[in-house]
Amino acid sequence: MDNTRAVYGIDLGTTYSCIAQVDKFDQAVVLRNFEGDSTTPSAVFFEGPDRVVVGKEAKGMLPVEPDNTVVFVKREIGIDEAFDKATNKFPYHYDPAEISAFILKKLVKDANDLGDNPEEIKDVVITCPAYFGTKERMQTKQAGEIAGLNVLAIINEPTAAAISYGLKTDQKKTILVYDLGGGTFDVTIINVNGGAIKVIATGGDHHLGGVDWDTLLAEYMLSVFNSENGTSYTLDESPELKYTLLLEAEMKKKQLSAKEKVRANIQFQGMQARVEITRDLFDSLTEGRLEETVDATRKVIEIAQQKGYNNIDEYILVGGSSRMPQIKARIDREFGCDSKYNDPDECVAKGAAIYAMNAAYNQAMQDYEEGESDTRPAPLRTDRTTVVNVTSKTYGTDVNTDDVANLIFANTTLPCKVTDTFLTMYDNQSAVAIKVSESDFTNPETDRIVKAKFCNILKEEVLPLTKNWPKGTPVSVTFELDHEGILKVYAYVDKDKLNFELQITGVKSQEEISKSREIISKAVIE
Ligand code: AMP
Repeated sequence: MDNTRAVYGIDLGTTYSCIAQVDKFDQAVVLRNFEGDSTTPSAVFFEGPDRVVVGKEAKGMLPVEPDNTVVFVKREIGIDEAFDKATNKFPYHYDPAEISAFILKKLVKDANDLGDNPEEIKDVVITCPAYFGTKERMQTKQAGEIAGLNVLAIINEPTAAAISYGLKTDQKKTILVYDLGGGTFDVTIINVNGGAIKVIATGGDHHLGGVDWDTLLAEYMLSVFNSENGTSYTLDESPELKYTLLLEAEMKKKQLSAKEKVRANIQFQGMQARVEITRDLFDSLTEGRLEETVDATRKVIEIAQQKGYNNIDEYILVGGSSRMPQIKARIDREFGCDSKYNDPDECVAKGAAIYAMNAAYNQAMQDYEEGESDTRPAPLRTDRTTVVNVTSKTYGTDVNTDDVANLIFANTTLPCKVTDTFLTMYDNQSAVAIKVSESDFTNPETDRIVKAKFCNILKEEVLPLTKNWPKGTPVSVTFELDHEGILKVYAYVDKDKLNFELQITGVKSQEEISKSREIISKAVIE
């Protein structure tokens, strides 16, 4: 088999995950799991520290053994407490990168066992929400490394969706990708020109997705149960009640995408209630969440307009939750468009597979041209894909205890590099302090200097100065974002490079990654 096809795209979703490959006919195809499904619930059940069940069966264990079952782990990526091994709430103190690694391992194991791949799956591209910052991207990459994979790249989910869409259009178009998944929401405006994909603007909400719709419906069903039985339970009454209702709500929500009315039968502690839910009722219960997505979409459109993109040619709906009819109806009404579905469950993994194949092809071609390899890769039958991305976050450094000066703004084209210089304040100053912060500010005109309390400090370090410099010596700090949106920082005094390593809390060292990989490799995964 041609090596440029031995690479895979993985959509590591909050609620469902999916793995795809480009086949020998240059078609992106999803590899089914052991259960025969194209997507696998991102649920992990720990039968013991080294006996782990991932997928549909694990999701079913949620009401039965909630303490040993983990769902929505992607929402914990980037949260320091969740990575604290001593105090985190996860079974056997696994951290979110390790739990994500179990999900990746299950996808890869099933694809290895069931597919016709001559070699074990190794090289992958993993997707993440456009909204993820440096820390979350690094942790996602590390989840892949812990799973024993070689992560060729981390790319944004909407970019991957646009890649799979881009191959279906040969006209130059500006498209808006509205991506409502299980736990995250992204809006991205992209210019597509055959295989060339250029991201113009991106935004969204890391904590908004289908599960919020489920929760509102579960709360409604519980209110009916309470009024019929004279009880006053809340969802937090017991994990059994909560997860039974949430799973039921998710099922009814999906049915409501196809039917106007559904019925649920709720049973708890010997009592029961029949609940009737119409689509209109469901839509009114969840209207607030829908409006939050519309607000975020408007904001991203404004940013694209500031960059001169005044016309959106197409609105594309992706992510499982975009199947709710309320989404298309509201988007079409708000923006006067006829939005289209683009293979909502599979397009992200497929786009990642196409990206992976292109990356592998480019590498193989480079090796051939540089004489490193004797084999010229077989030509691709599709347009070659090129991607130009933007950063979703703003990065800056402190100017005093209260204020941060932003150097790189969200929606700047990647890769990018900015250097800022400040002066030492005293003769023979012994050290300089550097703080690196990340934030969601978007406006270079009004947000150049912002309050530190609205920024997330990625790293704070006091750097000793090795020589005696006079007052007013320039210290230059360079922020560099690579094409994946991962930040590197360098500091110089004159020609002396200061020893500043951007080691972000919650991001593992190589040694820690190896340790996690070893622990996880001992587990049996079903
Ligand atoms: P994703 O992360 O893109 O796989 O999206 C998963 C989310 O889509 C979950 O919250 C699912 O409940 C939701 N979903 C999947 N199918 C449907 C459907 N037919 N109607 C409504 N929501 C759905």
